[in-house]
Amino acid sequence: MRCPFCSTLQDRVVDSRESKTGDMVRRRRECTKCGRRFTTYERLDEIPHMIVKKDGRREKFDRQKILAGLLKACEKRPVAMNQLEEIVNQAETYVAESPDRELSSSAVGELVMNRLKALDKVAYVRFASVYLDFKDVREFMDELKDLLKSKGKV
Ligand SMILES: [Zn+2]
Repeated sequence: MRCPFCSTLQDRVVDSRESKTGDMVRRRRECTKCGRRFTTYERLDEIPHMIVKKDGRREKFDRQKILAGLLKACEKRPVAMNQLEEIVNQAETYVAESPDRELSSSAVGELVMNRLKALDKVAYVRFASVYLDFKDVREFMDELKDLLKSKGKV
């Protein structure tokens, strides 16, 4: 937490206290540089992050849905379950840590696609072909050509 007095980013918590109702934690912090103390309040983040779909509909971020898409794309591919879980975790973190309450489904989809691409090209192509819009097809075909080219070199 940035010190409000000297803007240093390092501090230590000297006291931590939960409110009586248990919905808030109050922390006294001491700046490690200037030594001054300040207080932060921590609350549960109750506003969900929404995913905005291409047609404008909104839905809550759904881990299971992403995992299901990945599993389908990775059918009979040498990709371990924990690697897929890791991708889902990264997508979830990305959404949860975004300052925006609303994220486009394509931003999340792209993140997942890029991770998958690094793991397994076939799974990536499958996932992308399900996920991408018709308008993205040209771009996707270019990508596919690059993949085939690089495959030829190997
Ligand atoms: Zn300070």
